[in-house]
Order: sequence, then C-alpha cells, then structure tokens
Amino acid sequence: MTSDRVAQFLAAAEPETPFLVIDLEAIAQKYQALCQLLPKAQIYYAIKANPEAEVLNCLQQLGSNFDAASIFEIQRCLETGARPEQISYGNTIKKAQDIAQAYALGIRLYSFDSLAELEKLAIHAPGARVYCRLLIETQGAQWSLGRKFGCEPEMAYDLLVHAQRFGLVADGVAFHVGSQQTDPLQWEQPIRLAAELFERLKQVDVHLNLLNLGGGFPAHYRSPVPEEITYAESIQASLARHFGAELPLVMLEPGRSLVADAGVLYTEVILIAKKSYADDLRWVFLDAGKFNGLIETLGDCIQYRILVDKSDEWGETASLGEMNSVILAGPTCDSADIIYEKADYKLPLGLKIGDRLKILSTGAYTHTYASVGFNGFPPLKVYCV
Ligand SMILES: *Cc1c(COP(=O)(O)O)cnc(C)c1O
Repeated sequence: MTSDRVAQFLAAAEPETPFLVIDLEAIAQKYQALCQLLPKAQIYYAIKANPEAEVLNCLQQLGSNFDAASIFEIQRCLETGARPEQISYGNTIKKAQDIAQAYALGIRLYSFDSLAELEKLAIHAPGARVYCRLLIETQGAQWSLGRKFGCEPEMAYDLLVHAQRFGLVADGVAFHVGSQQTDPLQWEQPIRLAAELFERLKQVDVHLNLLNLGGGFPAHYRSPVPEEITYAESIQASLARHFGAELPLVMLEPGRSLVADAGVLYTEVILIAKKSYADDLRWVFLDAGKFNGLIETLGDCIQYRILVDKSDEWGETASLGEMNSVILAGPTCDSADIIYEKADYKLPLGLKIGDRLKILSTGAYTHTYASVGFNGFPPLKVYCV
C-alpha cells in the first residue's frame, strides 16, 4: 500500500503529525490509466482538488491540461510552466477584473451559465471560446455540485446564441454529475441533453464543438465503487448513442479521482475518553479534524478508510485487540469539530494515546480546505514524494 519511496521518506524525515503525504507516482499512474480508458478525451485536471506545485508539475509533464477555479490557480498553473492554451477558466462566477487579467495572460477558454457573466466575458475576453454549464439533476454523488451551477437547457440555448452575437466563440456545453459519483450511468442524460442542444443550435448556425463532461470519477473510500472502466464504457456508449460519428471535442475535468488515492493523512491520537461510567463508547480525539483537512467528512459525506499505522490491511489489527465503535473528533475547542459520530467507525480496544492513524485516500480536497490558524493550529503540512 505505502510505496517504498513514501516509506523511505517517512523513515528519513520523521515528520510530526498531522501531515499529508502525496505519492506523485500514484498520480501519474492514475493519469495514464485514464488516458488509456478514454483516449479521445482531453484531460483538464481540476486544480482545486490539490493545487500543490509538485502535483501540477507532475501532471504538466505528462501532458495534462488544467481546469482553474480562480485567477490565483491560473497564475499558479502558469508558474509551473503550463501554457495558457492548456488552461480553462472553468468557474462560472468570476470578477470582471479577474477575467481581464486571465485574458491578458493568454487564457482563451471560459465557462459561464448566465447572461451577466456572458456580458463580462464579451467585454473583458473578446473573441474567447466560451462554453455554457448546464444545470442537471443527478443522483449518486457523495459530494454534490448541483444547484449552484449551470442553467437549464432552454436558457443555455439562448445564451449560446447570444455568445455568438457578442463576438465570442460559442464553443460548447459543460456539466458536472457531482463529485464522488458512484453511478456510471449518470452521464447518460446530460450527454443526451447536450446532443439535443448541439442539434438545435446547428439549425440557427451556431456550431458547437466542445463537450465538457466535468469530473465526478470516484476515489477509493469506505464503500466500494465501480471500476473506472465501467465509467469509461458507459460514457463512450452514451457519446456514441447521442452523437454518433460526429463526436465533438470531449473534455474531462477529473480532480478527486486523479489525486485522492495518492494521499495519506497521518494523525496521532491525543486522547481517548468516555463520557460516563455507564457508556462504553470511546471518544478518540485526533490531532487532525474538520479544520485540519477533513472538512469533507461533513454530514458523513466522504467516509475515509482509517487504519492504525501498525496495520496494513483491515482486520490485521489483531495484536491491538478487538475492534469496537468510536466517535472520532478533532483537536479544536469547537463542537462542530467531530469527524465521524454516526458513521460507526471501529478501532481496536488496544488503541493508545500516542498511536498513529493513517487516513487513506486523502489526496483530494483536504489540505487546502484546512483553516489557516483556528485555535492556533497551523494549516496541514503536505509532502509530495
Ligand atoms: C470541482 C470540479 C471538478 C472536479 O470534480 P471531481 O469530482 O473532483 O473530479 C471538475 N470540474 C469543475 C467545473 C469543478 O468545479
């Protein structure tokens, strides 16, 4: 599980918990596997999942493009050597000045989902390629990205016509089926909607060229998910069904699936306690919590696999005794800083204060979500190996 390089790094550096270790080779493997599974798609890594310079560098060297959420991510990405043509400014909510700055930096691909945003783009990014994000309803995502983004297809139709009138290149449509999407069939309906838009717009001389399938591919958390090939096959079947031989340029924006499984968060047990003599339930307090990188545990949405550092596999904690239920909580003076209460995590009875836990698949949406100094705790440290 832990690669030799990571093990060597840990042995040599002996970092203090809490910290996150990212295995760059694991990211490279994921990227290459995805290229093979969907060879016709262009990959735009969603930077927000993990914006570490080493991660961007690694993907940049493999030929990845990038999906940026802000002018700051764009700058970061350019600093690692990406060319402006490799970057899509994919947030539908942008300040006019940020659009202007991105344009000055050479960015020519933007998303939008409203008339007001389109007007900003027409002024500050003249002639750029733009694509409209669709509001879609999906099920099966463990971290939803619906509701806030996109507009209904009727509006998208009008906006793309407007885009062309405004002198922009009405390039295509985008959607996102929700993050940690557990159902590979959820791409079918939005691909059908997109194909209908392509067809209808063609009749008024707006020729779309780009279909952005977003992210959503899953990481390996507590409950099993389908194999990546199932996603690829399902998407390819939907594309063939609705676009036939006239396949547009297909864009993918994976974030979580490329980087999550490459990360391990190491944390230490600070305290083990019970609330009453009658209660057997242990509270296990860790030096990492909701404010130190584990915010996606909100509402038990993302349920990470957690191991005692001495054990390699589930069940191999025999030396530490039987497992029983625990409430896991973070170190801050805030009651909201409970990691898992209802999700029924079990840890060995022999667990002691000072023991280390490994929280697996924490390479995405963790350290940049950590607070900058709540309760005085510094942001989560991250090491790329
Ligand atoms: C967050 C985001 C992604 C990445 O989604 P994952 O589920 O992490 O793959 C892709 N595209 C857009 C527009 C996003 O906002």
